[in-house]
Amino acid sequence: MPRERSGGILRRDLARAGSFPAKLRSGAAVCASPLSGKWQTATSTLVPLTVVFWSLQMTYVVTDNCIRCKYMDCVEVCPVDCFYEGENMLVIHPDECIDCGVCEPECPAEAIKPDTEPGLDQWLQLNAEYSEKWPNISTKGDAPADAKDMDGVPDKFAKFFSPEPGEGD
Ligand code: SF4
Ligand code: SF4
Repeated sequence: MPRERSGGILRRDLARAGSFPAKLRSGAAVCASPLSGKWQTATSTLVPLTVVFWSLQMTYVVTDNCIRCKYMDCVEVCPVDCFYEGENMLVIHPDECIDCGVCEPECPAEAIKPDTEPGLDQWLQLNAEYSEKWPNISTKGDAPADAKDMDGVPDKFAKFFSPEPGEGD
């Protein structure tokens, strides 16, 4: 289910408008002075002239069970095309995901999770790292022939993770 949230859409829209740093991380408070026209970054305890407060940057992440399942149903529904393809799994770019939640129920392997779930630090890091290295994918391809057999196999990361890129679109 999509979670209530406005920050991602706000950040994305402002970034697209060229008026907001695109890669602000969580916990930062950002203020703009209409007098100087310059962006300033401050701690959340400061009171700026005009304040856009960014409380949390949230994202969905792809986790262990995607590895060697890679059904790719998810890429078809993502409104911002923020999936990236490795050799045997996909990842989500955390700075591009708008946290809409549409992909989560589409994944047959139930491998997509909101990063608000506990214990996903490893996967958040992996999604962030490899979404910068792997090619973008927005069109569904063929799942591996043994995808069903691999669904639910434990500890896939240790056994099967490949850092090699996929083909992308
Ligand atoms: S639908 Fe699920 S298993 Fe398939 S590629 Fe997307 S995240 Fe991976
Ligand atoms: S479909 Fe999934 S990956 Fe794409 S923006 Fe929505 S939550 Fe993020």
